[in-house]
Amino acid sequence: MAYQSINPNDGKLLKTFVGITDIELESILVTANASFESWRFETFVQRAKVVARAAAIMRERIEELARLATLEMGKLIAEARGEVLLSADILDYYAKNAECFLAPERLSPSTGEAEVMSTPIGVLFGVQPWNFPYYQLARFAAPNLMAGNVVMVKHSSSVPQCAMAFEKLWQDAGAPAGVYSNLLVSYDQVNRIIDDPRVKGVALTGSADAGISVAARAGQNLKKSTMELGGSDAFIVLEDAELDKSVAWAVWAKMNNTGQCCIAAKRLIVVEELAERFLEKFQAAMMVLVPGDPMDKTTTLGPLSTEAALVQLLSQVNEAVANGATLVLGGKRIDRPGSFMQATILTNIKPDNPAFRKEFFGPVALFFRVKNEDEAVALANDSDFGLGGSVFTKDISRGKRVANRMDTGMVFINHPTWTATDLPFGGIKNSGYGRELSKMGIQEFVNKKLIRTESIDAPA
Ligand code: NAP
Repeated sequence: MAYQSINPNDGKLLKTFVGITDIELESILVTANASFESWRFETFVQRAKVVARAAAIMRERIEELARLATLEMGKLIAEARGEVLLSADILDYYAKNAECFLAPERLSPSTGEAEVMSTPIGVLFGVQPWNFPYYQLARFAAPNLMAGNVVMVKHSSSVPQCAMAFEKLWQDAGAPAGVYSNLLVSYDQVNRIIDDPRVKGVALTGSADAGISVAARAGQNLKKSTMELGGSDAFIVLEDAELDKSVAWAVWAKMNNTGQCCIAAKRLIVVEELAERFLEKFQAAMMVLVPGDPMDKTTTLGPLSTEAALVQLLSQVNEAVANGATLVLGGKRIDRPGSFMQATILTNIKPDNPAFRKEFFGPVALFFRVKNEDEAVALANDSDFGLGGSVFTKDISRGKRVANRMDTGMVFINHPTWTATDLPFGGIKNSGYGRELSKMGIQEFVNKKLIRTESIDAPA
């Protein structure tokens, strides 16, 4: 399988990498498994030294790492720098807090003593997407390495240089060989890795289709898995919301990472009192985005990650319009080299339109007018996804009430779906299961081992 770096700003091939052979894969597995046997018995302090050192190196290499992400997947350079810093923060967060998060829990049984230990389970395998080429790796690697597991990662085939740069961090931070391994593997090899008895858990971030394939394989092998999949987050604006603030957040939440976020505000749902004014201001802000080289700090609309992603998104927009949606803005490829799409707004998307249920992964906003709060919640919940969502209102108790009624893993009041080191991240429904980040993320791949002590005689 070919792993290719192609610059989506101009379509030029930067580098090609050949996938590893089965013999090479076996050797990596042997090393990872052997490495687990010593890494699991390192103290938290010893593991934290390596993880915190990796964080420090990330910060030292911010320009190099950010540049690679921008070159390989077209992220605006300022956003790429932000991602590098966030990833370093994730490493530091777990280096600092893992011991406390995994401290033995003393129980109060009716007799004797008991405690629950959190112990590592072995080699973990992660399958990761290109859209946040470092953050995705950091949020998988940091908690699991601090828990005493070792990790192997198949990164997206479009960001091999980011994948290798992240692996190098661990070597340079002094991690023993096999603690973190980047794998340039095919889908067949992914299946074989999941089948391998040395691999004890599987975490995937990506599309629902990939999740179905990888989760099924893990299930066949009775292996624990976590799935962080797609989303179609609702961004609800109630009639008492601050208009300008909600519009500004809508533009950011839709267009951050050129709309290629699982938690992007994919469905803007606005109560009718505000709908016209909201749409007018939102459209005005979308129209002035400046397409250009994502390395240039004046650019505000970068390319999509690949030509294939652009072709797919254009065809989704065409299909939406063919099925009755109204194109308010954009909808076309931008006439310049590279994989650029105009900032786009669709309205009048009825439930029988295929667009109603699909995830639009790029600079395309779906806009819905609703009569009231009840309709907003019903529409938000009428989705196969359940990742995040947000509600804008001046009345916080009302916001909490709406949040309570939303069927998603995360809801945010007066700001869009968000990620931070100390907030749990994950969804329900077709958005997957399990949580990453925060104190919850480190609990997914540990053995909650009960140890009970009592001096009693066997029943006669
Ligand atoms: P994708 O096509 O599912 O790819 C994700 C990863 O899975 C890549 O490494 C890919 O490898 C691999 N993969 C895909 N199909 C596979 C299969 N059948 N067997 C084994 N591996 C497979 O997703 P994407 O287009 O890269 O990323 C966008 C999707 O990820 C969106 O749906 C987005 O919402 C979701 N996402 C979710 C989160 C979250 O936390 N919930 C975060 C970010 C993104 P190749 O690259 O080699 O194909």
